[in-house]
Amino acid sequence: MSDSSTLVTAAHFEYIAKRTATEDAFLANLKRAARDEGLPPIWIAPEQGSFLQILLRVAGAREVVEVGTLAGYSAIWMARALPQGGRVRTIEYAKEHADFARAWIAKSDVFDKVQVFEGKGVDVLATFAADSADAAFLDADKGSYPAYLAESLRIVRKGGLILVDNAFAFGQLLDEKPKDREVEAVRAFNDLMAKEKRVQGMIVPIGDGLWVAVKS
Ligand code: SAH
Ligand code: MG
Repeated sequence: MSDSSTLVTAAHFEYIAKRTATEDAFLANLKRAARDEGLPPIWIAPEQGSFLQILLRVAGAREVVEVGTLAGYSAIWMARALPQGGRVRTIEYAKEHADFARAWIAKSDVFDKVQVFEGKGVDVLATFAADSADAAFLDADKGSYPAYLAESLRIVRKGGLILVDNAFAFGQLLDEKPKDREVEAVRAFNDLMAKEKRVQGMIVPIGDGLWVAVKS
């Protein structure tokens, strides 16, 4: 460990989570309904939602692009941090997920700030204009992360944010024999991101590890 570093434990994370904005009843109900419908419970942690909001507010973000909508949980967190007229364009290829997200977004307080695009991440991103977003949040299939990064570098403006979830590979990043087949892809992406000269970034150890990078 470096000088002046504290070894952060699970107890520290609990301490942190108790001292930031948490989810409201609407988001808790959304997650309950999503579980009941059999959607995988792989949304971001509430404290990660709060952290995303802080980052977007600091960046003065109005336009956000997300890959991986699932139930709309992270999209709603992010949309709530945007000013009036702001927008999250979120991409989802599973129809059941997109339908669920659309229904819940429609009854949320940010119904007019989130647009769900149905399709594959790479295909939909290719339709978005250059310099049309202040931030991108990548949270879908890990094997496509290099392609999503390349598109984000085109779509996000200079000084904007590129945020990437699951840098800790579902907790299996440092496992010798990881069970999940996407772990290798996450490791390769982390190395790619560390070398990427067009951003300055680092993995913030919140949730399952969040890349926070600024486009130069
Ligand atoms: N961001 C969400 C969680 C996303 S889970 C949250 O935190 O609330 C990942 C989602 O990506 C799943 O819904 C999955 O169906 C979707 N996905 C997987 N591969 C994809 C692809 N190639 N294009 C678009 N979406 C994809
Ligand atoms: Mg994730």
